[in-house]
Amino acid sequence: MSNILDTSIMYLSGVGPQRAESLQKELGISTFGDLAYYFPYKYVDKSKFYFTTDIRSDAVNVQLKGVISNFRTEGEGRKQRLVARFTDEKGSIELIWFKGIQWIQQSIIKGKEYIIYGKPNYYNGSFNIAHPDIEDPIKVQQSGFQCNFSAQYSVPDVKNSKFTSKAIARLVQNLWKAIATPIPETLPRYIIERLRLMTLTDALRAIHLPKNDEQLNAARARLKFEELFYIQLNILRFKRDKMEKSHGFVFKTVGEVFNTFYSKYLPFPLTGAQKRVVKEIRADFLTGRQSNRLIQGDVGSGKTLVALLSMLIAIDNGFQTCIMAPTEILAHQHFETIKDFLKDMPLKVALLTGSSTAKERRAIHAAIEDGSMNILIGTHALIEDDVKFQNLGLAVIDEQHRFGVAQRAKLYAKNKVLPPHVLVMTATPIPRTLSMTLYGDLDISIIDELPPGRKPVKTIHSYDAKRLMVWKFLRDQIAEGRQVYIVYPLIEESKNFDYKDLTDGYNAILKDFPPPKYNVSIVHGRMKPDEKDYEMQRFVKGETQIMVATTVIEVGVNVPNASIMVIESAEKFGLSQLHQLRGRVGRGASQSYCILMTDYKLSQDARRRIEIMCETTDGFKISEEDLKLRGPGDMDGTQQSGTPLQLHIADLNHDGQLLMQARSVASDVLDKDPTLSTPENEVLRIRQNVIFNKEQNWSRIS
Ligand code: ADP
Ligand code: MG
Repeated sequence: MSNILDTSIMYLSGVGPQRAESLQKELGISTFGDLAYYFPYKYVDKSKFYFTTDIRSDAVNVQLKGVISNFRTEGEGRKQRLVARFTDEKGSIELIWFKGIQWIQQSIIKGKEYIIYGKPNYYNGSFNIAHPDIEDPIKVQQSGFQCNFSAQYSVPDVKNSKFTSKAIARLVQNLWKAIATPIPETLPRYIIERLRLMTLTDALRAIHLPKNDEQLNAARARLKFEELFYIQLNILRFKRDKMEKSHGFVFKTVGEVFNTFYSKYLPFPLTGAQKRVVKEIRADFLTGRQSNRLIQGDVGSGKTLVALLSMLIAIDNGFQTCIMAPTEILAHQHFETIKDFLKDMPLKVALLTGSSTAKERRAIHAAIEDGSMNILIGTHALIEDDVKFQNLGLAVIDEQHRFGVAQRAKLYAKNKVLPPHVLVMTATPIPRTLSMTLYGDLDISIIDELPPGRKPVKTIHSYDAKRLMVWKFLRDQIAEGRQVYIVYPLIEESKNFDYKDLTDGYNAILKDFPPPKYNVSIVHGRMKPDEKDYEMQRFVKGETQIMVATTVIEVGVNVPNASIMVIESAEKFGLSQLHQLRGRVGRGASQSYCILMTDYKLSQDARRRIEIMCETTDGFKISEEDLKLRGPGDMDGTQQSGTPLQLHIADLNHDGQLLMQARSVASDVLDKDPTLSTPENEVLRIRQNVIFNKEQNWSRIS
């Protein structure tokens, strides 16, 4: 079946071989379809005519109808300009051109009626319009493309490009003259009817040439729905496919290990959210399929305990378990926490990291292989080839965004019989709209409740110039027995980063907080793991009152007595990082504070980030705001997920409702016809191949 949209752009009137080549090069447009899908980025309202005498401000663009006369040039050389008078029924204003002067003088017919459009400037007591759009009303009528909303196209990022917005608009008009028959539909008729969507032909036309607001909205809704629908259809198909294929271990019993711990050693009652998530995980263990579940919970929401309870169920069923953490410090902390939780239980727990000695390693390897080790905690060292579990049943990955996809796969391979169940824990809350698109293949549980008695952290913005006041506040707090983090913006992973800020800061702090009254720890990414650990431990034990650090402490560290977090050059951190850092405090009984230090000079975005931090401590709200500021492409996790989130027309900030609808329709379709093999769904199968063969990454989400 031939499709008019596949026609080479070369055959469009006004194009030809040479322009076709530039179109391809500069805009990636090589077919009619490419042009049809080159959507305008905005529209200007030409539904209304103004009179020259109505112009009151330079805030809005105006459209006027009248005649142009009295051309004269003013100024010399580069300052030369062309000035003319534009007169309508009620009055007149000046028009000005700085460029293309000759061409304007030659092509404008004096005394003839024109429609002009542009932005008024106020100058010397009256309004003028520079470089107005000029149209011949008779031509506009003849072309048959009279529309009130005039589309504006983004122009190529190329020097001296001939493709202005107007030039593109003209090509689009030619396109619609060339398209005489309906464009083949890309959605099944029953979906279009059920949702009362515009047809593809109408929508593509109206997105370029809308007659009114209503039509434009309907066109947008149809095209956005379609985009989101195909993404969801693809994700859901992939997920169903995987579920069918992936057999998993069944953990039938909740036995003695779990019950003893739960009834005797659980130090506090679970929150409602923790209970709910444990139930969801338990249900996964009974399905007979391998489960992959993402647990989202704000910092301090108690994810570790949920992981531990799940591991106890696995152990009850005769399986081994592991927790993999992104840093040595965090692995260590998990080890200490879990060892402490289980101190009265007859379970074997070990820590394996890059700095385990050869002797420790041998003992651990042996106990893993003979099955006597119940819980192994560690860093990447866990997935090395010489770590051979006898029967790994559940793997927990903490702080997912630091792990790549390949590493998850390595964990799957750690059990030769069937892949272990996987729990991924993340403290970077992702807006629901995004996670549905991003982690479509993971089931999601949300711990949306903090343990009782937590006081929200008070967040304060302070300028560098007021540092003395901040230092005084720190001294007062330390006098009351509190501890303080002071964090500098360095990126742990980067190689050539500059330690100057940190070391200067550290030296200044030593001077302002001198021994013996004060002791200061320092931790940064360049230290050896055992040095880091030593410094960290001094702080944990309360031997030091101040911890100067880079973002190595961002993840996981738990020192309940530390109640103040000072973030230096806070404008250099992203929102999610600021939120993570703030999560290090507020874990004990006393009121905690987060102090964001900045210079007076701040970019608008940085100022907004700081405002948001001062306004809320809700991780989900923060991530919604983050999404608004940065756009989905930059969200944490997108890079690793392998999901290209290049949405063409839909927008996850505003189209959450449509996304839900798209997902539910896609799910219905697959319930009735899992392989999309009925005739009415043929169009779906074809279209899906077209879309996703272009972007093969899609099916490699995990
Ligand atoms: P995160 O979700 O950030 O990993 P953690 O698991 O480290 O949070 O828990 C934060 C703190 O809250 C820990 O000290 C933990 O012992 C405590 N905690 C966890 N669950 C509860 C609960 N139900 N009631 C009280 N405290 C809890
Ligand atoms: Mg944690």
